[in-house]
Amino acid sequence: MMNKDYDVVIIGAGFAGIKAALTLEKYDLNICVVDEGVLPGGQFIRYKKDGENSSKIPTYNKGLALVKEFNESSITYLNRSELIFINEEKEILVKLPDDSLKIIVPKTIIFATGAREIVQPFKGWDLPGVITTGAMQILLKTSGKTFCDEIVIAGSGILHYAAGATWLEKGGKIKSFYDVNSFPNKFKMLTSALASNEKRADFFAMLPDMLKIQMNAKNNIKVIEAKGDKKLEAIVLAKVDGNGNVIKGSEFEQETSLLAIGNGLVANLDVATAAGCETIYDEKLGGLVLKTNHLLETSQKDIFAAGAPSGIGGADKAELEGEICAYSVLLNQKVIDANVYYELTKDLFISRTKAISFGKTLSSMQKFNLEEIKNLDEDTTICRCENIKLKDINEAINFGLTSINSIKKKTRAGMGNCQGKTCSELVRAILQSHGHNDTNHIKTRAPLKPTSIDILAGEITFLDGSKV
Ligand SMILES: Cc1cc2nc3c(=O)[nH]c(=O)nc-3n(C[C@H](O)[C@H](O)[C@H](O)COP(=O)(O)OP(=O)(O)OC[C@H]3O[C@@H](n4cnc5c(N)ncnc54)[C@H](O)[C@@H]3O)c2cc1C
Repeated sequence: MMNKDYDVVIIGAGFAGIKAALTLEKYDLNICVVDEGVLPGGQFIRYKKDGENSSKIPTYNKGLALVKEFNESSITYLNRSELIFINEEKEILVKLPDDSLKIIVPKTIIFATGAREIVQPFKGWDLPGVITTGAMQILLKTSGKTFCDEIVIAGSGILHYAAGATWLEKGGKIKSFYDVNSFPNKFKMLTSALASNEKRADFFAMLPDMLKIQMNAKNNIKVIEAKGDKKLEAIVLAKVDGNGNVIKGSEFEQETSLLAIGNGLVANLDVATAAGCETIYDEKLGGLVLKTNHLLETSQKDIFAAGAPSGIGGADKAELEGEICAYSVLLNQKVIDANVYYELTKDLFISRTKAISFGKTLSSMQKFNLEEIKNLDEDTTICRCENIKLKDINEAINFGLTSINSIKKKTRAGMGNCQGKTCSELVRAILQSHGHNDTNHIKTRAPLKPTSIDILAGEITFLDGSKV
């Protein structure tokens, strides 16, 4: 089979992508899954390649089982493969691990590209020794052990709790745990989690560790500065009021060489926007997400979105949408009819509504505090790749620029290696703090990942080596 005959290409091998692929495989479609990561499983299902990985968290174990089924399937899986070009005609150019460039032109695409973490910046947040809670999870899960005697964990939302629980599970000690959320906010999150079967089971499995964290957690506290000579030595913290604003005079300092911090998630939309998919900005769904219809099809025909790209919500939303997207593809390709589609998806859509409701609670806890952004030190780094400071962004705004893309052109914020993955949401928040609402995605251009000229000048073939 020529790879141009693929019925479906799925970008992303997390919960959403794997579930979509396994569902479609049962209907004898030719599927190819592309992921830049090494092992399938996405952000949540990280594990030691050869080792004992089971956990007390039911959803994690369910994910491991899905990964096992995926590995045993005959689905084409291109790992360590970077998508460097895509267009509205669904022509996809992928760089394989051997640096060869391959073109795939499927009938249908499912974007299951997940989310990435965001951190509300503070002075010194780019010092070595300050890591995100997601990075901490990756290190813990892939090595199976802790990497430091003691850690300080801080942030808002839920990821820092998940990271703290994993740290304790691997035998680590938490020096301090700081939470920007107030107790009533956390209670809201808890009641929302308990409404979902999957989250309820996870919650009770994590309860002993969560209680341990909660008993030592200090609420309404945020990190406002990281200090150190070339590496983290201490953090400055402060109390915040009910609106998240720092209470002057409440500042205190704590020595630490490791801080894990996270403030929430934002959808990965670079590839989808390059394919021409329209976005909408909805704070309740986690900010910028893809516009989708009742079939989870994007504004581009035969391109679907599963998981975070259509709204932050976690593993169960991702899995449900992966399955729904698979059935929508089957409906569009006339493999099943509308009645069968309805029967297969009706319960999935009901569960999805609950998962979205939990996602909305999470999103309400990850909003950037615009007042605090205004109060940030002008020397705070915003674009870490290009070393662009807050004062550079403010200068551009005062010059009259009111969009992420115009600020990118003037300051280079977003032009570095990560192509704005970290700073574009920060620039959006800074613009908001100046009263400008930019609800667009940062412009993405091919190559979507850093690629050397040598590679770009090389021959492009189909996956089986045949000439284009
Ligand atoms: C750092 C981090 C840690 C997290 N930890 C937890 C946790 O401990 N518990 C929890 O419940 N939830 C966690 N989440 C939330 C997580 O998003 C969901 O729970 C779940 O993983 C969503 O599954 P998904 O399939 O939608 O996306 P993901 O699991 O994020 O999978 C998306 C996949 O797409 C791939 N991808 C993205 N862009 C491209 C591209 N351009 N080319 C090729 N491949 C691409 C990625 O490599 C990834 O494997 C975490 C999220 C992040 C960002």
